[in-house]
Amino acid sequence: MPKKIIKKGKKPHKNKPTSKKYKQYKIEGDKITRGKNCPRCGPGVFLMSSNNRQYCGRCHYTSFDSK
Ligand SMILES: [Zn+2]
Repeated sequence: MPKKIIKKGKKPHKNKPTSKKYKQYKIEGDKITRGKNCPRCGPGVFLMSSNNRQYCGRCHYTSFDSK
């Protein structure tokens, strides 16, 4: 039985699963949307949605979902 060779240095390359970010986007007609657009920055800037609030990372706009 051959001895197992342990290579040092370079790690074997593993294929990582691709980013699923694109699944967060929806295409409506000729528009691309991902949840809400920022009312200050306009279309193209999307709000990050948390538990009960939405936040714009660009202008720090925060809107709270009132329930
Ligand atoms: Zn904004």
